[in-house]
Amino acid sequence: MRLRNVKRAFNRINDYEKLIANPMEYKGRWHTYFNNDNPIHIEIGMGRGRFLIDKAKKNPTINYIGFEKFTVVLVKSLEKIKEEGQMDNLCVVRYDAQDILELFDENEVAKVYLNFSDPWPKERHYKRRLTYRDFLNKYKIILKPEGLLCFKTDNEALFDFSLEEMNTLDMHILRETRNLHASPWVQDNIMTEYEEKFTKEGMTINMVEARYSS
Ligand code: SAM
Repeated sequence: MRLRNVKRAFNRINDYEKLIANPMEYKGRWHTYFNNDNPIHIEIGMGRGRFLIDKAKKNPTINYIGFEKFTVVLVKSLEKIKEEGQMDNLCVVRYDAQDILELFDENEVAKVYLNFSDPWPKERHYKRRLTYRDFLNKYKIILKPEGLLCFKTDNEALFDFSLEEMNTLDMHILRETRNLHASPWVQDNIMTEYEEKFTKEGMTINMVEARYSS
């Protein structure tokens, strides 16, 4: 999308049908938005949206909600969704993950995806990492008891940090690899924009899927 078009889209952000203007109104009743009781999967920090769009196309009986906090990034995903045409199982919110409990009730979500989350490498910023225990505790509240947290990153330090945080919360690791694309799980992997970029640069991708203990 060209800069001029991004600016125009930015100014008309609320015209996009798939952007939920008042997502707080759906807390505890997202099924009324989707008009069905299908499971809800969310991606936090969806960026340009490729992962979620591909997921939604492949899995019509799952409802997807994308979180993105920056409007300028969000408009790119909204444009892409618009190009896809009718997609009844996907919508987007402009929200900070920090406030995720404002949008979901307990046990409302079946899966949380974190893909290539910002690493916040400076030690003093560790609380901003989306896998810091305060965030993990919030995901725990909104996830169903059997719900899953799926995390992918190129960043080794962030991966190590995240595994430690999951361990602190006594989470059960169901799948873990330091090289997703050489693992059997690559078969059902959907690439994100960042994943494609890093893979082309020859980097390996770390992936973990975990469940909370009750
Ligand atoms: N998931 C995409 C991918 O893999 O291609 C984008 C990855 S990008 C490095 C991280 C994205 O997360 C950015 O678009 C950023 O704005 C968004 N983000 C970071 N912190 C966030 C937060 N607290 N709440 C919502 N979005 C956030």
